[in-house]
This record gives sequence, structure tokens and C-alpha cells, in this order.
Amino acid sequence: MPERSDSDSRKLLRRLRDVLGAQAKGQERLDQITHLIADSMRTEVCSIYLFRDAETLELCATEGLKAESVHQTRMKLGEGLVGRVARTNTPVNTADAPAEKGFRYMPETGEEIYSSFLGVPIQRVGEKLGVLVVQSRTARQFSDDEIYALEVVAMVLAEMTELGAFTGDEDGMRALHRQPVMFRGATGQEGAAEGHVWLHEPRVVVTNPVADDPVAEIDRLRDAVGQLRISVDDLLSAESLDKEQRQVLEAYRMFANSRGWLRRMEADIQNGLSAEAAVEKEQSAARARLEQVPDAYLRERLNDLDDLSNRLLRILTGQGADTGAEMPENPVLVARNIGPGELLEYGRKLRGVVLEEGSVGSHAAIVARALTIPLVIHARRITAEALNGDHILVDGDQGIAHLRPEEAVARAFRDKIAMQAEAQVRYASLRDLPATTACGTTIALHMNAGLMADLPSLEGSGADGVGLFRTELQFLVRNKMPRRAELAGLYARVMDAAKGKRVAFRTLDIGSDKVLPYMKPNDEPNPAMGWRAIRVGLDKPGVLRMQIQALLRAANGRPLTLMFPFVTELAEFQQARAHVLREVHRERSLGHVVPATLEIGAMLETPSLAFAPRTFFELTDFVSIGGNDLKQFFFAADRENERVRRRYDMLNLSFLGFIEQIVGRCAETGTPLSFCGEDAGRPVEALALAALGLRSLSMRPASIGPVKSLLRRVNLAEARAVISAARARGDMSARPALMDWLATQPA
Ligand code: PEP
Ligand code: MG
Repeated sequence: MPERSDSDSRKLLRRLRDVLGAQAKGQERLDQITHLIADSMRTEVCSIYLFRDAETLELCATEGLKAESVHQTRMKLGEGLVGRVARTNTPVNTADAPAEKGFRYMPETGEEIYSSFLGVPIQRVGEKLGVLVVQSRTARQFSDDEIYALEVVAMVLAEMTELGAFTGDEDGMRALHRQPVMFRGATGQEGAAEGHVWLHEPRVVVTNPVADDPVAEIDRLRDAVGQLRISVDDLLSAESLDKEQRQVLEAYRMFANSRGWLRRMEADIQNGLSAEAAVEKEQSAARARLEQVPDAYLRERLNDLDDLSNRLLRILTGQGADTGAEMPENPVLVARNIGPGELLEYGRKLRGVVLEEGSVGSHAAIVARALTIPLVIHARRITAEALNGDHILVDGDQGIAHLRPEEAVARAFRDKIAMQAEAQVRYASLRDLPATTACGTTIALHMNAGLMADLPSLEGSGADGVGLFRTELQFLVRNKMPRRAELAGLYARVMDAAKGKRVAFRTLDIGSDKVLPYMKPNDEPNPAMGWRAIRVGLDKPGVLRMQIQALLRAANGRPLTLMFPFVTELAEFQQARAHVLREVHRERSLGHVVPATLEIGAMLETPSLAFAPRTFFELTDFVSIGGNDLKQFFFAADRENERVRRRYDMLNLSFLGFIEQIVGRCAETGTPLSFCGEDAGRPVEALALAALGLRSLSMRPASIGPVKSLLRRVNLAEARAVISAARARGDMSARPALMDWLATQPA
């Protein structure tokens, strides 16, 4: 068998390019290509299998196998040797295919006479497109050079597939980026939206996978890598980098200077690929490795390489993030991940957001929630599949996105949106009515906020005030520490917008998942139980004091309410309160007006505070239960961990019993009590809290209508009796009993 040379490879790629350039139907092109490859590789068989749907491969063209098996022979991902190549994204090379584990005999193809088999994946940046196979009668292993050459060809086929070279006629093959795809992720923010894809970072399109002049291409590549190195060095010299950003950039620099990476790309070019296609080939290979790597650290590094390749592609193609494309109507942002600041910049323009990564507690999720934009997270691979302008449905309730949906799906979805809109109209009619139960008890319904963008909801939702203003959001969306005057201006605008309604400002709650970009992150084994919230405020009081001053100035003589997050014991509350009183004293001595009234409260987010001495309940002006944290510590179930966060029901009778104890302790001292975790916004949970004695709940603005609507229908004493009966029976959760009882209540 004569050795293949670089020039064989280049010749083949050139011929492939000519096929692509000529007017022809997709099938004709495929037929020509299999012929060319078999000829060039000197094998009797060359076949191209492409994905018909996400799970099924179909033989789409062959030189050497029986013609009647084309478009008939199919296999599932993982089935047979071809399926194995596709599943693992790695080549299979064997001298004796029938003896190979997993071999599946397909009689219609007549392949039994071919002993040696080499299959390589056709993939583009991790997107599985198909499998390219060569087979021959002689039992022999293919050489590394041959494998490599076939991979280069597969790369060109991937680009051609992406460009739609093989679709658009009657052959019924999977047209890329045209078929409906459903992404099953997780809920980041509830709600439903219909719109069109707007890619945060549009994919780079490579239109020239093959190049004639390797010397010129290598020059282009080296030039681009040079620019890339400079840009990474520039980024590294920025002052405001934190440790993690610096680590990532150091890794970028390491890759950008990696000889191996450059050498591989140059070899690809020698074999006939263009500089862009060479970058993509190595990027695809890295992605394929990424899928096999269990080690989180290594995966991160490979992710870095992926990002770096994208940068390099943008330099080579001149396609920046700003492609000049116009944002479609009803844009739905699709991205791998997005920072809170960037999301805020898009603001309410967006109808929905779908992310490949993200987490419920991520800053982006917090912003999406504040903007009430439906958000789906963990929609794996959507950025590879979606194109700008694609029709998309975002189902934030189910954590699902339907890309290019069938009309029937879209119709059903629109019905759902219409029903929600109808319900909203119904809730709007309740807006000015109090949340007074059938038994005559009025529950104050407040809203949670954290951004200026939230404040219009105060009027629209009919909230009685802001029960929780998460001040850290203002810190999180900036890239440097805000100044006192800036914060004072902002808090004053919040109070102005509240028009005299009470706003409970919670002092900075950072640490745990909320890490400020400009503060040195601490490597903590368990940040949720680490140095966070008031613990940081007390140990490093500079920021806390600055924030208190800003609040006092913002109030400018108006009443002021503030509360401390994550108070765990009496002493912490005493110290934090002393800071406030000291600042009030200081303001007064400076001749500034001080608030007309001042309420200083504590959030009860750790079980220990429920057992604090009576003095605590006497000292604090109010207690606000931070149910999100309280629940995570009560059940020892991380609120950020998808595996466990829904495992325990808030209506679990042990938890309700604990809430009752807190209600009792506050009642002893006449301390006002409210509840401001997410559960307050769920109607049945809100009902249970009211039944146990809570008279003030704070929730997302969109939840006020549904909660009020339910509360106005029910008798709290009856609800409490239902809970007590469930407990007496030994039920684990009050939910089934409450649901049964609710079903009997008048609508
Ligand atoms: C809570 O823990 O319930 C709470 C309201 O605070 P956050 O969600 O901001 O931690
Ligand atoms: Mg909390």
C-alpha cells in the first residue's frame, strides 16, 4: 500500500471543493464525494452516514456497498461500529470488522466481504453530524496517516453539511438548523414566551474549509495567533481581575502559546484545510475529548481552549460578536452563559432567555427573575443548534425550550400563554383589593426587589410595599465597588418610587453564591455555610457602614427600614444594630437629618436564631424569615444543587412545626414577623404560612395576584385544622390534605 502524502490529501480536498462549488443536488454531491474519497484513499468502499434525527444514523451515500441500501440502512446512536464512532466521537480502526465487539451485520449492504474498517466522526465543534467510513477487503489496520487524512476530509464534510451542501432536495436527510428540536433543561424563572432567537455570541460561519496555498494559510494562522496572544496579554494586564479571572486568562495564555496546538493546526493546513477549518478541527477534537473527561478541572481547561478557539476564529473571519444582524422581534436570548450586567443591558427588550449553563441561584437568574423574563437553564447544546431569528418557545415553568417548533406545538403553547394572560387579567382586577381571607383576616402582601427595574411592579402588582430589597444586586451588576453617594442616590430613587410604602432594605448579602467581581474571592470548602452576609459585614465593617450611611442619607428624614441577612445569634444582631445606631449618631452630629422612624430587623435564615434568647426578640424591631436559606439549613439540602433542592417539601409537617415555633416566639414578645423566601409566592405554601399565623408575606411581584386570589377564597382556621389533622394522622407533608381540602372550596 503506497504511503499517502500531504499532496494526495490536498488534491482530494480540492476536488471536494470543486464538487461543492458545482451546481448539483445534495445526493449527487454525496455520491461524487464517496467516489472521490474511495479513489483517493484506495479503498473499495467509502460511505457517508448522516443523522436523520438526533438518535438515528442513515446511510446516505456509498461507493462500494449495495446501492439499494442507501437511505434504507439505519442504525441507532451507539449501534454497530458506525454507531459507536458517532457515540464516542472517536475513530474506530480495525482489520477484522466482523470480529469487532459491537459489530452489527447489515445484510442489505453486502459489507460482509470487507474486512478492514475505518470510521471517523463527522462533527463540527462538538455537534455530531454523521460518520465517514472506508472499508476494504484486505485485512489490515489503517495507518495513523490515513486516519488523520480521513479526519481532515470529515472536517471538510462537516463544514459542507453545515453550509447545507447536502440538503434541500428530496433525499429526506436531516436538514441542519431546520428541524424542530426540544431542549429539556431546568427552570431558572417561570413564565412562558414566544419569540425569535437572538444569539448572544453568534456562531462563526466558515465558508472556505479548503485552501490551495498552505504557506499563505499558515501565515494567516500565525498572524491571528499573534493577535490572539496580544489580546490575552492585554486582558491579563487589566487591574481589576480577580483570582479566578486571572487563572482563566493564564490558562488562555498557556494555550495560546502552546506549540502543540499550533503544530496540529499547521499540519491540518498542510493537508489542505484553510486556517479557519484547521482551528475548528482542533476545536472539535477538544470538544470530543471534553465529553469524555470526568475531571471537572480538566473540563474547565478544555472549555478555556474552546473559548480561545472561538476568539481565534473571530479574528480569522473578522466576524465579531457584532455581526450587524438586526435583533429580531420578540427576541429570546440564547447563550452559553451570560453575566448579570450584560443581561441587564438587554433589559426588558427580551421575551425570554435560554442558557446552556447557569444555575437557579446564579446572578443571571436573579436578574432574569427581577426582570420577570422566563429563563430556561441547562439547555445543553442549544447554542450549536439555534440560529439567529429561529422561532422559539420558552417554557420557563417546565424548563423546556422548543426550537423551530411544529405548528401544533406552537398552537398548544399559545393557548397556555393565553390562559396565563387571562389569569393575569383576573389578577389585575384584584390589584386594589386587600388580601383579606374569607374569615376576615388581612395578610399584607409585599414584593421582593433588588433592581430599579423592579420598581414599576410596585404599582402594577398592588404590593403593600417592598418586603425584601436585595441590595447586593446593585453591587453584583457593577464591576467596581459603588460609592456612597451613588448608592445614596439609588436608594433615594427606590424610596421615591415606593411613594411612602415601606421598603425593607436588606444590607449586603454577599458570599456563598453571590461573589462580587471586584472582591477577592475566598476559597471556601462550603461557601453557603461560610463567610457570608452579616459575618462579612461584622468582620470588615467598612462596606457595611458605608451602606448604612448611604441608606440614612437616602432616607433624608423619611422613615427607614433595614434588616440584616443571615443573623445566627443574638450577639451578631447586637453588633450590627450598634453599627446603625453609631452611624445615626454620626449623621446627627454632622448636622444631617436622620430618619423620622427607624426599624432595624433581622432575617431568620438559620435554625439557631429561632432558639435565640428572648432578648433577641425584644431587641429586634421585626423578624423576616428567609425561607430559601432556612429551608436549606433545616433540611440540609443545598438550594443550589439541582439533585436535592426539590427533594424536601416546604409543606413537610416538620418544617411547618418549626415555622409555628417561630410564630410563637415572635408572638410572646409582640415582634412583627414576615416571610420573604420564594415559597411565599406559591399560593398553597402562602396559605399554609397564613394559616400558621404569618400576617405578612413578601414575594415576586408576579406571585401577588395568584396568592391574593387564593387567600381571598379561604378560611384560615379551617386550613389550620386541615394541617393539624394531617399532623395528627402522621402525614409527612400537609400538601395532599390541603390540596384535597382546596378542591372542595368555592372557586
Ligand atoms: C432567603 O434566603 O429566603 C432570602 C430571601 O434571601 P436570599 O434568597 O437572597 O438568600
Ligand atoms: Mg437568604
